[in-house]
Amino acid sequence: MAEQQGLPHLLIFPLPLQGPVNSMLKLAELLCLSGIYITFLVTDHVHSRLLRFTDIQTRFSRYPGRFRLDSISDGLPEDHPRLGHQLMEMFHAWETVTKPLFRRMMTSGDLGPDSRSPVTCIIADGILGFTIDVAKEIGVPVICIRTISPCCLWIFCCLPKLIQAGELRSQETDLDALVSSVPGMEGILRRRDLPTFCRPGNSADPMIQLFSRESQQISRANGLILNTFEDLEGPLLSHIRKLCPNLYTIGPLHLHLKTRLAAESISTASSASFRKEDKSCLAWLDKQEPKSVIYVSFGSLATASKDQIMEIWHGLVNSGKRFLWAIRGDSVAEHDCKGGIAAELRQGTAEKGCIVDWAPQEEVLAHDAVGAFLTHCGWNSILESICEGVPMICWPFFLDQHINGRFVEKVWNVGLDMKDVCDRRMVEKMVKHVMELMGCAERTAEMARRAVSRGGSSHGNLDRLVEDIRSKYLNGN
Ligand code: UDP
Repeated sequence: MAEQQGLPHLLIFPLPLQGPVNSMLKLAELLCLSGIYITFLVTDHVHSRLLRFTDIQTRFSRYPGRFRLDSISDGLPEDHPRLGHQLMEMFHAWETVTKPLFRRMMTSGDLGPDSRSPVTCIIADGILGFTIDVAKEIGVPVICIRTISPCCLWIFCCLPKLIQAGELRSQETDLDALVSSVPGMEGILRRRDLPTFCRPGNSADPMIQLFSRESQQISRANGLILNTFEDLEGPLLSHIRKLCPNLYTIGPLHLHLKTRLAAESISTASSASFRKEDKSCLAWLDKQEPKSVIYVSFGSLATASKDQIMEIWHGLVNSGKRFLWAIRGDSVAEHDCKGGIAAELRQGTAEKGCIVDWAPQEEVLAHDAVGAFLTHCGWNSILESICEGVPMICWPFFLDQHINGRFVEKVWNVGLDMKDVCDRRMVEKMVKHVMELMGCAERTAEMARRAVSRGGSSHGNLDRLVEDIRSKYLNGN
């Protein structure tokens, strides 16, 4: 232990959901690769899933003595579905159960017998604002990471301004009205692009209060990590820098990790899936023509109605294109789906498509046969698609997904946004036109590759982060 004193020990605490765990595990590996010792703290629920469905132990065994996995309760029963419409319930449990446990863990300084002490720096998801309070209490520097899109983070930061300007009122009456109180998004942001919890226009809504309050917290942190790159969101980042000047834009994290591992000749195929990946779809893709398949997935949290799913399915079938659909067993609203919709669709799909419960998405998007992605616009999915030059059809559900869809179509020109319209004719039309955006999608992918390569902005920012963890953040604030 004595010889380990004076060395950095970083505690990483992700939001316990699939997308954030995916990207923060990539960050953990990037930092291990740079020689930093890490405790990766997840909830018991996530812990059991990572051990059951991923190769996390072997993956990190290539960094001997540099990685330990620890867990803490999320305060929910094991069989709780933890789906997107239950977010407030989850936040309540994290605040009332996880927060005191985290405080006890950190103030006792005892992370268990296998741990190297003490923690010298914390990287936590900024939406878990209590981690900043605890870090301040124990005098340890804290760097926030926000795993949603920076364009949405900026909207959250501007919620007080939106409320003050009365721009959250009468949402449903004029969803195409432009919103003017988010600097940097003038002429882009419409009311329909705001998170859906803003639509009723009630500024006292608990979700509005929560996201507004927690997003202001970033200015209390020593730094802010964003999973993006400067060339993608430069103008907006300059606004976020006013709240938190010490910004580390080091994304896209998955591509950054892939690039750095390749430079060390280390194999990159690893996953952080909470479900069993069905790799049989890769063999199906191998049999398809290049750029001929539409990949469809709505991520890990969204639930749709059976009618919506059927409209999408008819649209896909009518387009005449082949498709691969990753459809979770729990992704159709319960009251709409007694016998499991996937089985029903699978039967009607045999000729034109392939349906799986959970796909190895990064590998799917990298496959030659995939020509477009019909996505719910989760930030990880968007970045994964951008990096492979795959144009998108956007059908957003909640949180950052609405503004992400808008940026995909209007700002980056790498996809089409069909938000609020889910009918078979629209799906068919978009499927037929989306591939016209391939050229722009490929140019954006090239920008992402440049950002994470030696000399690129994200590459340089990660080196700066590592250096700061090693020196600036080693001895308290
Ligand atoms: N994902 C996957 N297989 C699937 C669907 C999703 O591996 O069948 C992964 C996807 O690659 C992404 C994550 O799950 O990294 C979903 O995160 P995202 O931010 O896109 O959406 P969320 O699930 O948070 O809504």
